[in-house]
Amino acid sequence: MKKLVSAGEILVEIMADRIGQSFLEAGPLVGPFPSGAPAIFIGQAAALGQPAGLIGAVGRDDFGQLNIDRLRRLGADVSAIAAHEGHATGTAFVTYRADASRHFIFNIRNSAAGLLDIDDAARHLLADADHFHVMGSSLFSEKATDVVLAATAAVKARGGTVSFDPNVRREIMQHSGMREALDSVLALTDVFLPSGNELLLFSSAGDEQGAIADLLGRGIACIVLKRGADGAVYHDRQRSVAMPGFAVNEVDPTGAGDCFGAGFVSFWLRGAAPAEALRIANACGALAVTRKGPMEGIHRLADVEAFIAGAGTRA
Ligand code: ATP
Ligand code: MG
Repeated sequence: MKKLVSAGEILVEIMADRIGQSFLEAGPLVGPFPSGAPAIFIGQAAALGQPAGLIGAVGRDDFGQLNIDRLRRLGADVSAIAAHEGHATGTAFVTYRADASRHFIFNIRNSAAGLLDIDDAARHLLADADHFHVMGSSLFSEKATDVVLAATAAVKARGGTVSFDPNVRREIMQHSGMREALDSVLALTDVFLPSGNELLLFSSAGDEQGAIADLLGRGIACIVLKRGADGAVYHDRQRSVAMPGFAVNEVDPTGAGDCFGAGFVSFWLRGAAPAEALRIANACGALAVTRKGPMEGIHRLADVEAFIAGAGTRA
């Protein structure tokens, strides 16, 4: 089985308990939940049985331990997660607004996550990696960007493949250096996993169809467009395959895209047909939203398959 590696932020997420709750006054919170987009991705891939490891950095504190314990329990390789004395593990405080949008207070670049580095353990992990996954959110500082780009290039140089989930909002794209970094990753990408209108941020074509043709023409092997509750659509140069989402009760949307990506990439690496990879990915994404906390909805392959066998789709 092919080995999958990612690098980036490891966080705990602490959530406002009530919809519309403000962080300008005291209120009930739930958490800490293990989080960080690349950690969610690697945890879900490992739970599906894919050899998967993460390059990351945490503090030598309970938040860091919580993350390492969870990833290890899911079967991930945690050997390249450095625990730093004197720096606290990254955090994200999130509150949900009445219109279902999310508001975050992040502490990433000034936390232990900002110490992300390619040390000997990371080099060792990368030495037999077959695939590298990039989360756009992991390009949170110049240093983190250097790590992600170096790891991407290393895996690519040994004949490996790369997947890329931009995971960005328009506001973040305007930060200096981010745009160039995203474009550098895209140039090395085999599997591109945008959601919503992220696709249009990477092409001068003004519409979805034009952007897909443009990106496939630039050498990307396949594009998988995530469409929330509606499922996803796969495109390569020969065909397009649409797959409706599974009908579930959404409790917390955070982590859906990451779990979806892990499902798709794991099955793509196994040589599955697009429809099969999409089905697994949609199931991982749907299961992710049924639990509060970004990694609480991660399920093992047998449970994902049982869910598919028993579930209805929205179509
Ligand atoms: P994230 O907020 O994690 O960045 P994203 O924008 O990258 O998410 P989405 O399109 O929101 O990605 O979700 C990814 C996948 O998860 C969808 O393609 C779908 O398969 C599944 N999914 C998300 N929300 C739901 C839902 N409410 N019901 C069923 N499936 C869902
Ligand atoms: Mg996303």
